[in-house]
Amino acid sequence: MSHLEYADRIKTLAPYPFAAIDKAREKAKAAGQDIISLGIGDPDLPTPDFIVRAMQKATEDPATHRYPDYAGRADFREAAAQFLHARFGLQFDPDSEIVALIGSKEGIAHIPLAFVNPGDFVLCPDPGYPVYSVASRFAGGIVHTMPLLPDLNFTPNLEAIADDVAAGAKMMFLNYPNNPTGAVATREFLAEAVAYCKANKILLVHDCAYSEMAFGQAKPPSIFEIDGAKDVAIEMHSLSKTFNMTGWRIGFAAGSAHHVGGLGKIKTNVDSGAFDAIQIAAIEALNRYDDPAVTDSYKIYGRRRRRCEEILDKMLIKYLKSDATFYLWFKTPTTESSADFAARILQKTGVVLTPGSAFGDVGEGWMRIALTVPEQRLVEAMERVATEL
Ligand SMILES: *Cc1c(COP(=O)(O)O)cnc(C)c1O
Repeated sequence: MSHLEYADRIKTLAPYPFAAIDKAREKAKAAGQDIISLGIGDPDLPTPDFIVRAMQKATEDPATHRYPDYAGRADFREAAAQFLHARFGLQFDPDSEIVALIGSKEGIAHIPLAFVNPGDFVLCPDPGYPVYSVASRFAGGIVHTMPLLPDLNFTPNLEAIADDVAAGAKMMFLNYPNNPTGAVATREFLAEAVAYCKANKILLVHDCAYSEMAFGQAKPPSIFEIDGAKDVAIEMHSLSKTFNMTGWRIGFAAGSAHHVGGLGKIKTNVDSGAFDAIQIAAIEALNRYDDPAVTDSYKIYGRRRRRCEEILDKMLIKYLKSDATFYLWFKTPTTESSADFAARILQKTGVVLTPGSAFGDVGEGWMRIALTVPEQRLVEAMERVATEL
């Protein structure tokens, strides 16, 4: 039987990079391999108890069973504004400058629909979270990639962007602390990006999913710590990695009423908001963002990172040293492509690594590890990789 043809926008889509990896993993598992997955950035640690309990209690109230407010509960938006104030010293009006998201991926996927016209350029980091470029294309935008390389600590060289691209660009995605590299941007770079977007009338979408997952002295900044950023930027915040809540689907966007309002217009026509009980639990989470029940997980990720870095040092493999995120970005240690190296390691050892090329062409030659298994298993995984070099 012949099938109805898919629309061009999905026919031309490259297969989701993680789908091939999942398939290879299933095959290795079926072949009897003991799989250790360092592939996907999904916390193995549970959501803190106090958040789970708040959710349990909230679901008992029938008021939470009805359609939620499109923009998010007033008390949730208030808690988000409070968090931005307590953590970064920022002022946001909860009524007009915050909108709840069904996970920040939802906001990232929808924002191009609000600001990008067909033919507009969208500046996307490479390597980068794949949703930036796909969502931009869905909106008819033309993706212009900004290479992230070690010489500029994995921040883009904005001066290298051609004048005609800058003139035709409508949106730029940035993400610090960065997935997949773990890089943290300096305030100087963020200030440069804000000035660039202001000069070229570009909306800067800052994906801040890992702002809390850091264990060094200095806490990673919000884009809004830069003077004038509110004129040009919107920031996506996620509770997923911060509170080990990936399955819950809750986050928020912050920005000027104009920018948040544009995203809100798309959302009211697509979704009907985040489950009230989840928002009520998320309020508890945001109110206690600096509680040890929350921050102790960052220490665990930090210890795993140091352990893994020691092993990479012994293996003489180069990597980006970082104090943030639960990713470790290292050089592919053989002459194979990153995808071939990942495929061979999986087949021979059962260890799942993500090839850097899954995040863009510039990621070729690199590998990403997610530090989302217990330390013992992590050490074992690295020992298995070492036998295959
Ligand atoms: C995990 C992740 C997200 C998505 O987070 P959700 O809030 O769970 O949708 C967004 N951006 C980056 C860079 C991520 O790694």
